[in-house]
Amino acid sequence: MGSAADISLWMDQAAHEPIGQALDMDIKVDVAIAGGGFSGLWAAYYLKTLAPDLQICVLEAQRCGFGASGRNGGWMMSAIEGETRLLSVLDGDRRESARAQIHSILPEVEGVLERHGIDCNYQRGGGIFAAARYPEQARILRDSLADYRAAGFGEQDYQWLEAHELESRLRIHQPAGAIYTPHIARIQPARLVVGLAQTLRDMGVRIYEQTPVTALTPGAMMTSCGRVHATHRLLALEGYGAGVANTERRVLALQSRIIATEPLDEQTWQTLGLADSEVFCDVSPLTTYGQRSADNRMVFGARGSYCFGGKPRSQFSPADPSFEAIHRLLLACFPQLRKAAITHRWGGTLGAPRNGLPHAVYDRATGIGTVGGYVGEGVGASNLMARTLADLVLSRETELSSAPWAHNGSPESVLRRWEPEPLRWLGYKATDLARTWEEGVYCRRGAAWQRRPIQTVSHWLDKLMT
Ligand SMILES: Cc1cc2nc3c(=O)[nH]c(=O)nc-3n(C[C@H](O)[C@H](O)[C@H](O)COP(=O)(O)OP(=O)(O)OC[C@H]3O[C@@H](n4cnc5c(N)ncnc54)[C@H](O)[C@@H]3O)c2cc1C
Repeated sequence: MGSAADISLWMDQAAHEPIGQALDMDIKVDVAIAGGGFSGLWAAYYLKTLAPDLQICVLEAQRCGFGASGRNGGWMMSAIEGETRLLSVLDGDRRESARAQIHSILPEVEGVLERHGIDCNYQRGGGIFAAARYPEQARILRDSLADYRAAGFGEQDYQWLEAHELESRLRIHQPAGAIYTPHIARIQPARLVVGLAQTLRDMGVRIYEQTPVTALTPGAMMTSCGRVHATHRLLALEGYGAGVANTERRVLALQSRIIATEPLDEQTWQTLGLADSEVFCDVSPLTTYGQRSADNRMVFGARGSYCFGGKPRSQFSPADPSFEAIHRLLLACFPQLRKAAITHRWGGTLGAPRNGLPHAVYDRATGIGTVGGYVGEGVGASNLMARTLADLVLSRETELSSAPWAHNGSPESVLRRWEPEPLRWLGYKATDLARTWEEGVYCRRGAAWQRRPIQTVSHWLDKLMT
Protein backbone atom coordinates (compact mmCIF):
# COMPACT_ATOMS: atom_id res chain seq x y z
CA MET A 1 0.00 0.00 0.00
CA GLY A 2 2.90 2.40 0.64
CA SER A 3 3.18 5.07 3.31
CA ALA A 4 0.92 8.10 3.79
CA ALA A 5 3.69 10.22 2.20
CA ASP A 6 3.40 8.12 -1.00
CA ILE A 7 -0.32 8.95 -1.21
CA SER A 8 -0.23 12.76 -0.99
CA LEU A 9 1.03 15.76 0.96
CA TRP A 10 -2.36 15.86 2.68
CA MET A 11 -2.30 12.24 3.85
CA ASP A 12 1.28 12.70 5.03
CA GLN A 13 0.26 15.74 7.10
CA ALA A 14 -2.82 14.00 8.49
CA ALA A 15 -0.89 10.82 9.32
CA HIS A 16 -2.92 8.82 11.79
CA GLU A 17 -3.19 5.42 13.35
CA PRO A 18 -5.45 3.03 11.43
CA ILE A 19 -9.06 4.10 11.94
CA GLY A 20 -10.34 0.56 11.68
CA GLN A 21 -8.99 -2.98 11.68
CA ALA A 22 -9.56 -5.44 8.86
CA LEU A 23 -12.74 -7.50 9.03
CA ASP A 24 -11.94 -11.00 10.26
CA MET A 25 -15.31 -12.78 10.36
CA ASP A 26 -18.80 -12.77 8.86
CA ILE A 27 -21.01 -10.03 10.31
CA LYS A 28 -24.59 -8.78 10.03
CA VAL A 29 -25.52 -5.07 9.84
CA ASP A 30 -28.41 -3.00 8.44
CA VAL A 31 -26.27 -0.94 6.04
CA ALA A 32 -22.94 -1.89 4.46
CA ILE A 33 -21.06 0.83 2.57
CA ALA A 34 -18.13 0.06 0.25
CA GLY A 35 -15.54 2.89 0.08
CA GLY A 36 -13.98 5.02 2.81
CA GLY A 37 -13.79 8.32 0.91
CA PHE A 38 -16.04 11.35 1.32
CA SER A 39 -19.03 9.64 -0.34
CA GLY A 40 -18.99 6.57 1.89
CA LEU A 41 -18.26 8.53 5.06
CA TRP A 42 -20.91 11.20 4.43
CA ALA A 43 -23.48 8.50 3.55
CA ALA A 44 -22.75 6.73 6.85
CA TYR A 45 -22.92 10.06 8.71
CA TYR A 46 -26.37 11.06 7.41
CA LEU A 47 -27.87 7.58 7.74
CA LYS A 48 -26.69 7.29 11.35
CA THR A 49 -27.82 10.84 12.15
CA LEU A 50 -31.30 10.31 10.68
CA ALA A 51 -31.73 6.75 11.98
CA PRO A 52 -29.49 6.27 15.05
CA ASP A 53 -30.66 2.68 15.59
CA LEU A 54 -29.25 1.50 12.26
CA GLN A 55 -26.19 -0.76 12.45
CA ILE A 56 -23.82 0.60 9.80
CA CYS A 57 -20.38 -0.43 8.60
CA VAL A 58 -17.95 1.13 6.12
CA LEU A 59 -15.66 -1.27 4.23
CA GLU A 60 -12.49 0.32 2.83
CA ALA A 61 -10.03 -1.63 0.66
CA GLN A 62 -6.93 0.26 1.88
CA ARG A 63 -7.21 3.08 4.40
CA CYS A 64 -9.81 5.86 4.60
CA GLY A 65 -8.71 8.67 2.27
CA PHE A 66 -6.60 6.38 0.07
CA GLY A 67 -8.70 7.37 -2.98
CA ALA A 68 -9.38 10.82 -4.45
CA SER A 69 -10.67 12.13 -1.11
CA GLY A 70 -7.17 12.10 0.38
CA ARG A 71 -5.46 13.42 -2.74
CA ASN A 72 -7.51 16.26 -4.25
CA GLY A 73 -6.96 20.00 -4.70
CA GLY A 74 -9.02 20.90 -1.62
CA TRP A 75 -11.62 23.04 -3.39
CA MET A 76 -14.85 22.48 -1.50
CA MET A 77 -17.62 23.87 -3.65
CA SER A 78 -21.30 24.57 -3.31
CA ALA A 79 -21.48 23.39 -6.91
CA ILE A 80 -21.79 20.17 -8.89
CA GLU A 81 -20.31 19.16 -12.22
CA GLY A 82 -22.63 20.05 -15.12
CA GLU A 83 -24.89 22.26 -12.97
CA THR A 84 -25.47 24.95 -15.62
CA ARG A 85 -26.55 22.26 -18.11
CA LEU A 86 -28.70 20.55 -15.46
CA LEU A 87 -30.41 23.71 -14.17
CA SER A 88 -31.00 25.37 -17.54
CA VAL A 89 -33.44 22.60 -18.58
CA LEU A 90 -35.44 22.74 -15.32
CA ASP A 91 -38.17 25.26 -14.87
CA GLY A 92 -39.73 27.30 -12.06
CA ASP A 93 -39.77 25.77 -8.59
CA ARG A 94 -37.70 22.72 -9.55
CA ARG A 95 -34.82 24.86 -10.70
CA GLU A 96 -35.00 27.08 -7.60
CA SER A 97 -35.12 24.06 -5.31
CA ALA A 98 -32.15 22.36 -7.03
CA ARG A 99 -30.10 25.56 -6.91
CA ALA A 100 -30.89 26.05 -3.22
CA GLN A 101 -29.83 22.46 -2.50
CA ILE A 102 -26.55 22.94 -4.38
CA HIS A 103 -25.88 26.12 -2.42
CA SER A 104 -26.64 24.35 0.85
CA ILE A 105 -23.40 22.34 0.63
CA LEU A 106 -20.99 24.77 2.33
CA PRO A 107 -23.38 25.86 5.13
CA GLU A 108 -24.21 22.20 5.79
CA VAL A 109 -20.53 21.19 5.98
CA GLU A 110 -19.75 24.20 8.19
CA GLY A 111 -22.43 23.00 10.62
CA VAL A 112 -20.93 19.49 10.79
CA LEU A 113 -17.39 20.82 11.32
CA GLU A 114 -18.64 23.06 14.12
CA ARG A 115 -20.78 20.38 15.80
CA HIS A 116 -18.03 17.76 15.87
CA GLY A 117 -14.98 20.00 16.26
CA ILE A 118 -13.39 18.82 12.98
CA ASP A 119 -10.39 20.96 11.98
CA CYS A 120 -9.64 20.63 8.26
CA ASN A 121 -8.17 24.12 7.71
CA TYR A 122 -11.53 25.17 6.28
CA GLN A 123 -11.36 28.75 4.97
CA ARG A 124 -14.23 30.18 2.96
CA GLY A 125 -12.33 32.71 0.86
CA GLY A 126 -14.23 32.04 -2.38
CA GLY A 127 -12.87 31.03 -5.76
CA ILE A 128 -11.27 32.93 -8.65
CA PHE A 129 -11.64 31.67 -12.23
CA ALA A 130 -9.01 33.82 -13.92
CA ALA A 131 -8.52 34.81 -17.55
CA ALA A 132 -4.76 35.18 -17.95
CA ARG A 133 -1.69 34.36 -20.05
CA TYR A 134 -3.38 34.68 -23.49
CA PRO A 135 -6.39 36.65 -24.79
CA GLU A 136 -8.56 33.61 -25.60
CA GLN A 137 -9.12 32.95 -21.89
CA ALA A 138 -11.21 36.13 -21.55
CA ARG A 139 -13.55 34.91 -24.31
CA ILE A 140 -13.86 31.46 -22.71
CA LEU A 141 -14.64 33.05 -19.35
CA ARG A 142 -17.24 35.48 -20.74
CA ASP A 143 -18.98 32.47 -22.34
CA SER A 144 -19.09 30.63 -19.02
CA LEU A 145 -20.46 33.72 -17.26
CA ALA A 146 -23.26 33.74 -19.86
CA ASP A 147 -23.92 30.04 -19.07
CA TYR A 148 -24.18 30.84 -15.34
CA ARG A 149 -26.64 33.64 -16.06
CA ALA A 150 -28.72 31.40 -18.37
CA ALA A 151 -28.94 28.85 -15.55
CA GLY A 152 -30.28 31.56 -13.21
CA PHE A 153 -27.13 32.37 -11.17
CA GLY A 154 -26.91 36.06 -10.30
CA GLU A 155 -24.21 38.61 -9.54
CA GLN A 156 -24.12 37.47 -5.90
CA ASP A 157 -23.13 33.95 -7.07
CA TYR A 158 -20.73 34.62 -9.96
CA GLN A 159 -19.35 38.12 -10.35
CA TRP A 160 -17.12 39.53 -13.11
CA LEU A 161 -13.82 41.08 -11.95
CA GLU A 162 -11.95 43.47 -14.23
CA ALA A 163 -8.20 42.90 -14.72
CA HIS A 164 -7.20 45.35 -11.96
CA GLU A 165 -9.70 43.75 -9.54
CA LEU A 166 -8.28 40.34 -10.33
CA GLU A 167 -4.74 41.63 -9.76
CA SER A 168 -5.68 42.94 -6.34
CA ARG A 169 -6.52 39.33 -5.36
CA LEU A 170 -4.21 37.19 -7.52
CA ARG A 171 -0.99 38.24 -9.28
CA ILE A 172 -1.24 35.81 -12.22
CA HIS A 173 0.68 36.38 -15.48
CA GLN A 174 -1.08 38.76 -17.91
CA PRO A 175 -4.41 39.07 -16.06
CA ALA A 176 -7.40 39.96 -18.22
CA GLY A 177 -10.37 39.50 -15.87
CA ALA A 178 -12.00 36.83 -13.74
CA ILE A 179 -15.18 35.36 -12.35
CA TYR A 180 -15.30 35.44 -8.56
CA THR A 181 -17.64 33.23 -6.56
CA PRO A 182 -18.14 33.16 -2.78
CA HIS A 183 -19.38 29.54 -2.96
CA ILE A 184 -15.99 27.83 -2.54
CA ALA A 185 -13.88 27.07 0.52
CA ARG A 186 -10.28 25.87 0.80
CA ILE A 187 -9.73 22.72 2.89
CA GLN A 188 -7.03 20.20 3.77
CA PRO A 189 -8.99 17.20 2.48
CA ALA A 190 -7.26 14.38 4.38
CA ARG A 191 -7.97 16.14 7.67
CA LEU A 192 -11.66 16.14 6.75
CA VAL A 193 -11.51 12.40 5.94
CA VAL A 194 -9.86 11.60 9.27
CA GLY A 195 -12.16 13.94 11.25
CA LEU A 196 -15.27 12.45 9.66
CA ALA A 197 -14.11 8.85 10.16
CA GLN A 198 -13.29 9.50 13.83
CA THR A 199 -16.69 11.18 14.31
CA LEU A 200 -18.41 8.15 12.77
CA ARG A 201 -16.55 5.79 15.09
CA ASP A 202 -17.74 7.86 18.06
CA MET A 203 -21.30 7.62 16.71
CA GLY A 204 -21.08 3.82 16.65
CA VAL A 205 -20.43 3.24 12.94
CA ARG A 206 -18.01 0.34 12.39
CA ILE A 207 -15.14 1.10 10.01
CA TYR A 208 -13.11 -1.75 8.54
CA GLU A 209 -9.92 -0.83 6.65
CA GLN A 210 -7.84 -3.26 4.55
CA THR A 211 -11.15 -4.90 3.61
CA PRO A 212 -11.80 -4.90 -0.16
CA VAL A 213 -15.34 -5.63 -1.31
CA THR A 214 -15.25 -8.24 -4.06
CA ALA A 215 -18.92 -8.70 -5.03
CA LEU A 216 -22.53 -8.06 -4.08
CA THR A 217 -24.85 -11.03 -3.62
CA PRO A 218 -28.53 -10.96 -2.63
CA GLY A 219 -28.52 -9.81 0.99
CA ALA A 220 -24.73 -9.61 1.41
CA MET A 221 -21.56 -7.78 0.48
CA MET A 222 -18.65 -10.15 -0.09
CA THR A 223 -15.19 -9.05 1.00
CA SER A 224 -11.86 -10.82 0.85
CA CYS A 225 -11.98 -11.00 4.68
CA GLY A 226 -15.54 -12.17 5.36
CA ARG A 227 -19.17 -11.84 4.35
CA VAL A 228 -21.24 -8.81 5.42
CA HIS A 229 -24.97 -9.53 5.57
CA ALA A 230 -26.85 -6.27 5.07
CA THR A 231 -30.31 -5.14 3.95
CA HIS A 232 -28.89 -2.01 2.30
CA ARG A 233 -25.66 -2.33 0.29
CA LEU A 234 -24.21 0.95 -0.95
CA LEU A 235 -21.30 1.45 -3.34
CA ALA A 236 -19.22 4.61 -2.86
CA LEU A 237 -16.23 3.67 -5.00
CA GLU A 238 -16.19 6.51 -7.59
CA GLY A 239 -13.22 5.83 -9.95
CA TYR A 240 -12.59 2.42 -8.33
CA GLY A 241 -15.93 0.84 -9.25
CA ALA A 242 -14.64 -1.14 -12.24
CA GLY A 243 -14.02 -4.23 -10.10
CA VAL A 244 -17.62 -4.51 -8.88
CA ALA A 245 -20.14 -5.77 -11.45
CA ASN A 246 -22.96 -3.33 -10.54
CA THR A 247 -20.94 -0.21 -11.40
CA GLU A 248 -18.52 -1.62 -13.97
CA ARG A 249 -18.11 0.75 -16.95
CA ARG A 250 -20.67 3.15 -15.41
CA VAL A 251 -18.12 5.57 -13.91
CA LEU A 252 -14.87 5.91 -15.80
CA ALA A 253 -11.55 6.19 -13.94
CA LEU A 254 -9.52 9.27 -14.96
CA GLN A 255 -6.38 10.65 -13.36
CA SER A 256 -5.40 14.16 -12.27
CA ARG A 257 -2.00 15.25 -10.89
CA ILE A 258 -0.81 17.82 -8.38
CA ILE A 259 2.44 19.42 -7.26
CA ALA A 260 3.16 21.44 -4.10
CA THR A 261 5.94 23.92 -3.38
CA GLU A 262 7.83 24.22 -0.14
CA PRO A 263 6.15 26.60 2.36
CA LEU A 264 6.64 30.13 0.98
CA ASP A 265 7.48 33.21 3.04
CA GLU A 266 5.15 36.18 3.42
CA GLN A 267 7.26 38.28 1.05
CA THR A 268 6.68 35.76 -1.74
CA TRP A 269 2.97 35.63 -0.97
CA GLN A 270 2.87 39.43 -1.35
CA THR A 271 3.88 38.85 -4.98
CA LEU A 272 1.22 36.14 -5.46
CA GLY A 273 -1.88 37.41 -3.63
CA LEU A 274 -4.54 35.03 -2.23
CA ALA A 275 -4.59 36.99 1.03
CA ASP A 276 -8.02 35.49 1.84
CA SER A 277 -6.97 31.94 0.87
CA GLU A 278 -9.16 32.03 -2.22
CA VAL A 279 -8.78 28.98 -4.45
CA PHE A 280 -8.06 29.72 -8.11
CA CYS A 281 -7.65 28.40 -11.62
CA ASP A 282 -7.03 29.88 -15.02
CA VAL A 283 -9.33 28.72 -17.81
CA SER A 284 -6.77 26.79 -19.80
CA PRO A 285 -8.04 23.77 -21.76
CA LEU A 286 -5.60 21.83 -19.53
CA THR A 287 -7.91 22.34 -16.49
CA THR A 288 -5.68 23.92 -13.85
CA TYR A 289 -6.58 24.40 -10.16
CA GLY A 290 -4.71 25.70 -7.13
CA GLN A 291 -4.83 26.73 -3.52
CA ARG A 292 -2.69 28.45 -0.88
CA SER A 293 -2.42 25.75 1.76
CA ALA A 294 -2.72 26.45 5.47
CA ASP A 295 1.06 26.03 5.76
CA ASN A 296 1.61 28.54 2.93
CA ARG A 297 2.52 26.24 0.06
CA MET A 298 1.33 26.80 -3.49
CA VAL A 299 -0.56 23.61 -4.38
CA PHE A 300 -1.29 23.35 -8.10
CA GLY A 301 -2.84 20.64 -10.27
CA ALA A 302 -3.93 19.95 -13.82
CA ARG A 303 -5.75 17.47 -16.01
CA GLY A 304 -4.08 14.06 -16.05
CA SER A 305 -4.48 10.84 -17.97
CA TYR A 306 -6.53 7.74 -18.72
CA CYS A 307 -5.38 4.12 -18.39
CA PHE A 308 -6.55 1.68 -21.06
CA GLY A 309 -9.42 -0.43 -19.75
CA GLY A 310 -10.46 2.27 -17.26
CA LYS A 311 -8.13 0.97 -14.56
CA PRO A 312 -7.84 3.16 -11.46
CA ARG A 313 -4.32 4.25 -10.65
CA SER A 314 -2.89 4.87 -7.20
CA GLN A 315 0.91 4.94 -7.72
CA PHE A 316 2.50 7.98 -9.39
CA SER A 317 6.27 8.17 -9.77
CA PRO A 318 7.55 11.68 -8.89
CA ALA A 319 9.92 11.27 -11.88
CA ASP A 320 6.99 11.02 -14.32
CA PRO A 321 7.46 13.75 -17.00
CA SER A 322 3.82 14.83 -16.58
CA PHE A 323 4.81 16.50 -13.28
CA GLU A 324 7.39 18.59 -15.16
CA ALA A 325 4.63 19.70 -17.53
CA ILE A 326 2.49 20.80 -14.56
CA HIS A 327 5.48 22.67 -13.12
CA ARG A 328 5.95 24.50 -16.45
CA LEU A 329 2.26 25.43 -16.39
CA LEU A 330 2.61 26.72 -12.82
CA LEU A 331 5.58 28.90 -13.86
CA ALA A 332 3.67 30.15 -16.91
CA CYS A 333 0.98 31.38 -14.49
CA PHE A 334 3.41 32.58 -11.80
CA PRO A 335 6.93 33.30 -13.13
CA GLN A 336 7.67 34.72 -9.65
CA LEU A 337 7.78 31.09 -8.37
CA ARG A 338 10.80 30.06 -10.48
CA LYS A 339 13.02 29.70 -7.40
CA ALA A 340 10.46 27.84 -5.27
CA ALA A 341 11.29 24.18 -4.72
CA ILE A 342 8.67 21.55 -5.54
CA THR A 343 8.56 19.19 -2.57
CA HIS A 344 5.53 16.98 -3.36
CA ARG A 345 4.14 15.37 -6.51
CA TRP A 346 1.18 13.03 -6.50
CA GLY A 347 -1.88 11.99 -8.45
CA GLY A 348 -5.24 10.36 -7.97
CA THR A 349 -8.18 8.72 -9.68
CA LEU A 350 -11.50 10.47 -10.12
CA GLY A 351 -14.68 9.19 -11.76
CA ALA A 352 -16.61 10.38 -14.82
CA PRO A 353 -20.13 9.08 -15.54
CA ARG A 354 -21.27 8.80 -19.17
CA ASN A 355 -23.68 11.77 -18.90
CA GLY A 356 -21.20 13.95 -16.97
CA LEU A 357 -23.58 14.49 -14.02
CA PRO A 358 -23.30 13.23 -10.42
CA HIS A 359 -25.92 10.86 -9.06
CA ALA A 360 -27.45 9.16 -6.02
CA VAL A 361 -29.15 5.90 -6.99
CA TYR A 362 -31.08 3.44 -4.84
CA ASP A 363 -33.08 0.34 -5.72
CA ARG A 364 -35.70 -0.49 -3.09
CA ALA A 365 -36.31 -3.91 -4.62
CA THR A 366 -32.75 -5.13 -4.03
CA GLY A 367 -31.41 -2.71 -1.39
CA ILE A 368 -28.48 -1.79 -3.66
CA GLY A 369 -27.46 1.84 -4.13
CA THR A 370 -24.58 3.94 -5.34
CA VAL A 371 -23.38 7.51 -5.21
CA GLY A 372 -20.76 9.42 -7.20
CA GLY A 373 -19.98 10.54 -10.75
CA TYR A 374 -18.50 13.88 -9.66
CA VAL A 375 -15.84 14.15 -12.40
CA GLY A 376 -13.36 16.53 -10.66
CA GLU A 377 -15.86 18.19 -8.33
CA GLY A 378 -16.66 15.73 -5.56
CA VAL A 379 -15.25 17.36 -2.44
CA GLY A 380 -18.44 19.32 -1.80
CA ALA A 381 -20.81 17.42 -4.11
CA SER A 382 -20.24 14.15 -2.20
CA ASN A 383 -21.96 15.75 0.81
CA LEU A 384 -25.04 16.61 -1.26
CA MET A 385 -25.19 13.24 -3.02
CA ALA A 386 -24.72 11.34 0.26
CA ARG A 387 -27.55 13.30 1.90
CA THR A 388 -29.70 12.46 -1.12
CA LEU A 389 -28.78 8.78 -0.92
CA ALA A 390 -29.65 8.70 2.80
CA ASP A 391 -33.12 10.10 2.03
CA LEU A 392 -33.63 7.53 -0.75
CA VAL A 393 -32.55 4.63 1.48
CA LEU A 394 -34.80 5.77 4.34
CA SER A 395 -37.74 6.42 1.93
CA ARG A 396 -37.92 10.04 3.08
CA GLU A 397 -39.95 12.24 0.75
CA THR A 398 -37.83 15.38 0.69
CA GLU A 399 -36.66 17.96 -1.84
CA LEU A 400 -33.45 15.94 -2.09
CA SER A 401 -35.12 12.62 -2.84
CA SER A 402 -36.94 14.28 -5.75
CA ALA A 403 -33.93 16.29 -6.97
CA PRO A 404 -32.82 15.76 -10.58
CA TRP A 405 -29.73 13.81 -9.40
CA ALA A 406 -31.83 11.38 -7.27
CA HIS A 407 -32.80 8.12 -8.99
CA ASN A 408 -34.91 5.16 -7.92
CA GLY A 409 -33.80 1.99 -9.69
CA SER A 410 -30.81 -0.26 -10.05
CA PRO A 411 -27.43 1.32 -10.87
CA GLU A 412 -27.33 -0.86 -14.00
CA SER A 413 -30.64 0.53 -15.30
CA VAL A 414 -30.12 4.18 -14.29
CA LEU A 415 -26.47 4.77 -15.26
CA ARG A 416 -25.45 4.62 -18.91
CA ARG A 417 -22.47 2.45 -19.80
CA TRP A 418 -19.34 3.82 -21.38
CA GLU A 419 -18.39 2.39 -24.76
CA PRO A 420 -16.13 -0.68 -24.84
CA GLU A 421 -12.39 -0.35 -25.44
CA PRO A 422 -10.62 0.78 -27.52
CA LEU A 423 -13.30 3.46 -28.10
CA ARG A 424 -12.98 5.00 -24.62
CA TRP A 425 -9.20 5.14 -24.89
CA LEU A 426 -9.38 6.67 -28.37
CA GLY A 427 -11.97 9.22 -27.20
CA TYR A 428 -9.86 10.24 -24.23
CA LYS A 429 -6.61 10.40 -26.21
CA ALA A 430 -8.25 12.48 -28.96
CA THR A 431 -9.62 14.92 -26.35
CA ASP A 432 -6.25 15.11 -24.64
CA LEU A 433 -4.40 15.81 -27.89
CA ALA A 434 -6.98 18.39 -28.94
CA ARG A 435 -6.69 20.26 -25.63
CA THR A 436 -2.89 20.28 -25.73
CA TRP A 437 -3.00 21.51 -29.34
CA GLU A 438 -5.57 24.17 -28.41
CA GLU A 439 -3.42 25.41 -25.50
CA GLY A 440 -0.39 25.57 -27.83
CA VAL A 441 -2.26 27.61 -30.47
CA TYR A 442 -3.52 30.06 -27.83
CA CYS A 443 -0.07 30.42 -26.22
CA ARG A 444 1.49 31.14 -29.63
CA ARG A 445 -1.27 33.73 -30.26
CA GLY A 446 -2.39 31.77 -33.33
CA ALA A 447 -4.50 33.67 -35.86
CA ALA A 448 -8.26 33.08 -36.13
CA TRP A 449 -7.80 30.59 -39.01
CA GLN A 450 -5.57 28.50 -36.69
CA ARG A 451 -7.86 28.78 -33.65
CA ARG A 452 -11.20 27.98 -35.28
CA PRO A 453 -10.50 24.42 -36.49
CA ILE A 454 -9.15 23.29 -33.11
CA GLN A 455 -12.00 25.00 -31.25
CA THR A 456 -14.47 23.11 -33.44
CA VAL A 457 -12.67 19.80 -32.88
CA SER A 458 -12.50 20.38 -29.10
CA HIS A 459 -16.16 21.36 -28.96
CA TRP A 460 -17.29 18.19 -30.73
CA LEU A 461 -14.99 15.94 -28.73
CA ASP A 462 -16.33 17.43 -25.48
CA LYS A 463 -19.88 16.79 -26.71
CA LEU A 464 -18.97 13.22 -27.61
CA MET A 465 -17.44 12.53 -24.19
CA THR A 466 -20.34 13.89 -22.05
C1 LIG B 1 -5.87 14.88 -8.12
C2 LIG B 1 -7.33 15.19 -7.85
C3 LIG B 1 -7.72 16.50 -7.57
C4 LIG B 1 -9.06 16.78 -7.29
N1 LIG B 1 -9.40 18.05 -6.89
C5 LIG B 1 -10.68 18.30 -6.51
C6 LIG B 1 -11.02 19.55 -5.94
O1 LIG B 1 -10.17 20.40 -5.70
N2 LIG B 1 -12.33 19.78 -5.65
C7 LIG B 1 -13.29 18.84 -5.86
O2 LIG B 1 -14.47 19.11 -5.61
N3 LIG B 1 -12.97 17.61 -6.33
C8 LIG B 1 -11.69 17.31 -6.64
N4 LIG B 1 -11.36 16.07 -7.07
C9 LIG B 1 -12.40 15.03 -7.08
C10 LIG B 1 -12.72 14.56 -5.66
O3 LIG B 1 -11.53 14.34 -4.94
C11 LIG B 1 -13.55 13.28 -5.71
O4 LIG B 1 -14.69 13.52 -6.52
C12 LIG B 1 -14.05 12.82 -4.35
O5 LIG B 1 -12.99 12.77 -3.43
C13 LIG B 1 -14.69 11.45 -4.51
O6 LIG B 1 -14.90 10.88 -3.25
P1 LIG B 1 -15.41 9.39 -3.18
O7 LIG B 1 -15.53 9.04 -1.76
O8 LIG B 1 -16.62 9.23 -4.02
O9 LIG B 1 -14.28 8.54 -3.90
P2 LIG B 1 -12.82 8.16 -3.35
O10 LIG B 1 -12.28 9.18 -2.45
O11 LIG B 1 -12.00 7.78 -4.53
O12 LIG B 1 -13.10 6.90 -2.44
C14 LIG B 1 -13.29 5.60 -2.94
C15 LIG B 1 -12.67 4.66 -1.91
O13 LIG B 1 -13.02 3.32 -2.24
C16 LIG B 1 -11.91 2.50 -1.90
N5 LIG B 1 -12.06 1.25 -2.64
C17 LIG B 1 -11.68 0.97 -3.91
N6 LIG B 1 -12.03 -0.28 -4.24
C18 LIG B 1 -12.66 -0.81 -3.16
C19 LIG B 1 -13.25 -2.07 -2.88
N7 LIG B 1 -13.27 -3.05 -3.78
N8 LIG B 1 -13.80 -2.26 -1.65
C20 LIG B 1 -13.79 -1.28 -0.71
N9 LIG B 1 -13.23 -0.07 -0.93
C21 LIG B 1 -12.68 0.17 -2.14
C22 LIG B 1 -10.71 3.32 -2.30
O14 LIG B 1 -9.53 2.88 -1.64
C23 LIG B 1 -11.15 4.72 -1.89
O15 LIG B 1 -10.72 5.04 -0.57
C24 LIG B 1 -10.04 15.74 -7.36
C25 LIG B 1 -9.65 14.44 -7.66
C26 LIG B 1 -8.31 14.15 -7.90
C27 LIG B 1 -7.91 12.74 -8.20
